[in-house]
Amino acid sequence: MEEQNIESNYLEPEPSSKIIGLTGGIGSGKSTVAQYIENCGFPVYYSDDRAKAIVNEDENLKIKIKDLLGNEAYDHQGLYDRKFVGKKVFNDDELLQKLNNIIHPAVRLDFNNWVSQQTKYLVFKETALLFELNLHLDCYKSLLVTAEDNIRLKRVMDRDGKTYREVESVMNNQMQERDKIKLADYIIYNNTNLDDLKDQTEKVIFEIE
Ligand code: ATP
Repeated sequence: MEEQNIESNYLEPEPSSKIIGLTGGIGSGKSTVAQYIENCGFPVYYSDDRAKAIVNEDENLKIKIKDLLGNEAYDHQGLYDRKFVGKKVFNDDELLQKLNNIIHPAVRLDFNNWVSQQTKYLVFKETALLFELNLHLDCYKSLLVTAEDNIRLKRVMDRDGKTYREVESVMNNQMQERDKIKLADYIIYNNTNLDDLKDQTEKVIFEIE
């Protein structure tokens, strides 16, 4: 009998849609761009929102999280206790890494399942950590939304009622814009107004080949 290449049976199927990774630092405007993209008729997968949902939906994932952090990771209603988990992993990088090593593959599976149901030739995957987690390598192209630091600071302070220091500390923990710019295939500079942001978004969608 002919020998079979067993490994090839386990390769992930190639999605028929081209996946565009959409990213940007805090307050860059990536959620606003994602909304414009949806308005143009292209589907967007929101990685952070899905991660927040699947910790409550995926029973296998729940078991793994409880094994790692204890049953208190879920409250008496069975819902993920973000506050408890936050305290537990605060200042414990190793534990945070372990938690991420459980959650990230689950999000990846969820995304693969989502993308296999899409029919548009382009789909977008919005994720804050596209470059940090090397997820751009699994995408056809990457799209970065960027804006000057002082503009992002002001927008997030206005949006969330946070202090300058609070926003600055998040920004300082993220990859520098200049490093993201080097990695991105397409860039939207969001330094002016929403009309300009919308125009740039529509232009870039139709530039993607
Ligand atoms: P985060 O990473 O914090 O979720 P984000 O990158 O998704 O942020 P948005 O929420 O889209 O950013 O934008 C941040 C805030 O700035 C929002 O309140 C949005 O309405 C506003 N905003 C974005 N772009 C512009 C613009 N060009 N002009 C005015 N306001 C803007």
